[in-house]
Amino acid sequence: MSEPVTIPPARPDALWDIVFLDRDGTLNERVVGGYVDDPERVVLLPGAAGAVARLNAAGLPVVVVTNQRGLATGRLSEEQYAAVTARIADLLAARGAWIDATFVCRHDHGQCDCRKPADGLFRQALAAAPWADPARCVMVGDMPGDVAPARGLGITAYQLGTDVPDLAATVERILR
Ligand SMILES: [Mg+2]
Ligand SMILES: [Zn+2]
Repeated sequence: MSEPVTIPPARPDALWDIVFLDRDGTLNERVVGGYVDDPERVVLLPGAAGAVARLNAAGLPVVVVTNQRGLATGRLSEEQYAAVTARIADLLAARGAWIDATFVCRHDHGQCDCRKPADGLFRQALAAAPWADPARCVMVGDMPGDVAPARGLGITAYQLGTDVPDLAATVERILR
C-alpha cells in the first residue's frame, strides 16, 4: 500500500535539502516490547519538538521514515496508527513544529524493499523530491538499520546514542 506523498522543496537558503527522521526512539519514546499504539501514551523525547521546530524555521523539509510492522501483523490497526500520527502532530504543533511528509513501511519482515534496513523508504522520498541531492540530505535514527540504508544512498546519517546523544544535539550540529 502506498499513498502519493509530496515533499515541499527546501527553502533556497537552507543548508540541507531534506532532513529524514526515524520516528520511534528518535522523535518519540519507544514502547519496550511493543508498538506505539495508544495516542494517550505518546511521549516526545526531550528536546525533540524544539529540534524539529528549528529545522522548520531553517527552511528544511522534515520527512519521517518509519517501519510499522504491526500494521502487517494486525498488532497495530490503521486506526491506531492514524491516531498516534495525529497525536504526534498535535504535540509538535504545540511547540510550533511540524512534519512535512511521512513514508511508512506497513510490511512484515522479508515482504518488501522498504522496511529499514532496506532503502526503499528513502528511495520513495527521493523520487518524490527530484530537487533533492542525497549528498545534501541528513538522516537521524536510533538504530543501525536507520543509518545504514541512508549512508548507502550517500545521505549523511547520525545514530542517536552512538554518533550523537539526541535529536536536539544532532540539529545543533547540522545547522552549525
Ligand atoms: Mg527507531
Ligand atoms: Zn515495506
